[in-house]
Amino acid sequence: MADPLLRVENLVRRFGGIVATDHVSLEVARGELHAIIGPNGAGKTTLISQLTGQLLPHAGTIYLAGQDITRVPAWRRSALGLARSFQITSLLPDFTAIDNVALAAQAHDGHSFRFWGNARKESGLRATAFAALQRVGLVERANTLVSKLSHGEQRELELAVALATSPQVLLLDEPMAGLGITESSRMVKLLQELRREVTIVLVEHDMDAVFALADRISVLVYGRVIASGAPSEIRQNEEVKRAYLGEQ
Ligand code: ATP
Repeated sequence: MADPLLRVENLVRRFGGIVATDHVSLEVARGELHAIIGPNGAGKTTLISQLTGQLLPHAGTIYLAGQDITRVPAWRRSALGLARSFQITSLLPDFTAIDNVALAAQAHDGHSFRFWGNARKESGLRATAFAALQRVGLVERANTLVSKLSHGEQRELELAVALATSPQVLLLDEPMAGLGITESSRMVKLLQELRREVTIVLVEHDMDAVFALADRISVLVYGRVIASGAPSEIRQNEEVKRAYLGEQ
């Protein structure tokens, strides 16, 4: 692939005797929605955590737009344009939806809490937060406490939080987890819109969503990439069917 936005080479991360990512290599083109699938414990979350810098690899290299970011600390990767939406909710339940997004935008800009009370800066942050809420269709819930939002709305809010940092690459760890049928199809529609604006790496167990959304899919099994390709290739790959899709 010429000039991928994100390139991972031979990423190794061990936990004791377990090799959670075992020489993982993959490339994500600018504008692509790249899904990572695989059975429980395959190393998907460990891979995402190394991309964001929450975990350091024991070996291997990560490039973002050609720059080696393997040892760049997590907070700087966010400034370089990597945003993660968590598998486990990371929202503040006693704050409103818009405050949660504004706090993320503020942290991204490297501002401290002293900006609360500075009317001009605060209204700038609120405008950013409002725009992010608009992108996920949550404007009407802007002033609602997170604890009063439905599970599906909280997932959408997590996306708004990630979007408020203007990412180049959005890393999504199981955005459909725990969603009902209606909420899942709303999320698929939302991701279909967002993919036009931002490169997305999607970890997801919902295969209908993955095959509806992905440009390319990489399959992880026991920490290794056993296949990478277009959805049609992955669907027909015998090894993938045996190792993963057959059990769906
Ligand atoms: P799931 O689909 O269930 O979320 P996954 O593909 O995301 O699974 P990981 O959570 O990355 O898989 O786990 C990969 C392997 O590494 C598993 O065997 C897991 O038990 C192990 N592992 C992950 N994190 C840790 C940790 N902090 N300490 C010890 N072992 C870990």
